[in-house]
Amino acid sequence: MPPNYRRCVVCRKIDHKSAFWRIVRLFPSRKIQLDEGMGRSAYLCPQESCLQAAQKRDRLGRSLKAPVPPEIYQLLYQRLSAGKSETPAGATAATAVASTSVDS
Ligand SMILES: [Zn+2]
Repeated sequence: MPPNYRRCVVCRKIDHKSAFWRIVRLFPSRKIQLDEGMGRSAYLCPQESCLQAAQKRDRLGRSLKAPVPPEIYQLLYQRLSAGKSETPAGATAATAVASTSVDS
C-alpha cells in the first residue's frame, strides 16, 4: 500500500487517509475520539452505508479493540448530514453494494 493510504474497516476500500474519517483510541488513556491523537486508529468512508454497517457490526470497536461510545456515532452522523451536499449522488455507495452482493 502506498504511504498515507488507508483501508476502510467496513468496505475495505483503499484511499488516501485524508479521504476517510479517522477514529482513534488514544494511548494510553484508551479514550476514543475523532481525527486527532496518538494511538490505534480505524478509518471509515464518509458515507452512510459504511457508517451504518460499522455501527451495526461493531467494525470500529473490533478494529480498535475497545467499545465505541454512541456519541462517536452521533458525531459521525452529524458530519454525514452536514456534508451531504458534497457527495455526488452516492455513486460509490451503489457500486460497493453491487459488488458485495454478487455471491448471494
Ligand atoms: Zn467504506
